[in-house]
Amino acid sequence: MNHDNSRDLYDRALSVMPGGVNSAVRAAIEPYPFFVQNGDAGHVVDADGNRYIDWVMGLGPLLLGHDLPERVQAGIQQNASEGPMYGTPTEIEVDLAEFVVRHVPSVEKIRFVNSGTEATTSAVRLARGYTGRNKVVVMQGGYHGAQESTLVEGDAENPAPSSAGIPQSFSEHTLPVPFNDEDAVREVFEEHGDDIAAVLTEPILGNYGIVHPDDGYHEFLREITEEHGSLLIFDEVITGFRVGGLGCAQSEFGVTPDLTTFGKIIGGGFPVGAIGGRAEIIEGFAPSGPVFQAGTFSGHPVTMAAGLETLKFAAENDVYDHVNGLGEQLRDGLSDIVADQAPQYTVAGTDSMFKVIFTRDGEAPRNSADVKNAETDRWRRIFWGQMKEQGVFLSQNQFECQFVSYGHTEDDVEETLEAYKHAL
Ligand SMILES: *Cc1c(COP(=O)(O)O)cnc(C)c1O
Repeated sequence: MNHDNSRDLYDRALSVMPGGVNSAVRAAIEPYPFFVQNGDAGHVVDADGNRYIDWVMGLGPLLLGHDLPERVQAGIQQNASEGPMYGTPTEIEVDLAEFVVRHVPSVEKIRFVNSGTEATTSAVRLARGYTGRNKVVVMQGGYHGAQESTLVEGDAENPAPSSAGIPQSFSEHTLPVPFNDEDAVREVFEEHGDDIAAVLTEPILGNYGIVHPDDGYHEFLREITEEHGSLLIFDEVITGFRVGGLGCAQSEFGVTPDLTTFGKIIGGGFPVGAIGGRAEIIEGFAPSGPVFQAGTFSGHPVTMAAGLETLKFAAENDVYDHVNGLGEQLRDGLSDIVADQAPQYTVAGTDSMFKVIFTRDGEAPRNSADVKNAETDRWRRIFWGQMKEQGVFLSQNQFECQFVSYGHTEDDVEETLEAYKHAL
């Protein structure tokens, strides 16, 4: 494969952008990432004309793949051409809010913002404002965007900023615990119960391998938060409108969070985030409540149209059957290959999420430490490149999830399984 154009573009990018990229993970590929020229269906074509089956799908937003259905394109174009945005409300914001409220039972009201990061930042502020408490419990290995309250590592005894530029005193209000560890959660509630505003978790860890909750774990979180007057926040930025279809992962698990953060799919490929939940809590946002929250671009008509038409298309077509069916074929095929060639590895995922975790003992990971112990270097330095050379684009490291879209076909699945067979 020739990558001259990507290399030249990266060379230019390095001179004017830190690390040559606008989001850190994009540079995880060495020696340089490929630049994309265009997408079609389940594929992307890079700046040198190489074509790949794309399982990254924008890192999550592209439920329908790269070819948007006519009605999605029409909605985007109409709202872009009528004038991009106004600083005063438009009908399409109400339409999308009504759609989400109708399909996600825990969401009575919703505030749209412009990224998943903004959604989790606002959700944490809202939870603190609502409860009058300071501390937030998060899961080690969970990801909630590039925000001060959750870029924290260590454990509940010794939380520390996981990035330069964040005061140690900020991280003291964040309590990281291992995922799936009920005792650890009980301990932090014993110690800090009356100052815990919320437990914030992804329903399925999707940014650190894929780690599934043990049976009963979310029910446990629901009970202990209720007992202590803390909020349960599900960060469904990845799982929202992907796992569990239009009801989201919370419907799959049968657990009702107080607040839910959305992003990715809900904007149909455009910048988006949202905070939904019980009316009484969401009303805490300004102007109806005391928690300040605002954004010039929030509820942007083009984004709202792309999100609404994407979700309506999914509601009226066989989108979830298609993506979940191919997801299952992939996971089944991968399980066979792994059993044959690398029995120490494990296949993770559900619905349209999948990943082979390079575990050392054949045990599905239960928390971030298990994923950290995997052969992450082999994944990144050898395996990713071997897949790329065979025309398969996987997420940039062992930790990011991979996604099936409506644009993918059974042929894509077959070809991908063949590539895994050669690369594993
Ligand atoms: C992607 C992601 C975010 C951050 O969203 P951005 O739009 O990148 O700011 C937050 N939470 C989860 C679970 C995510 O996957």
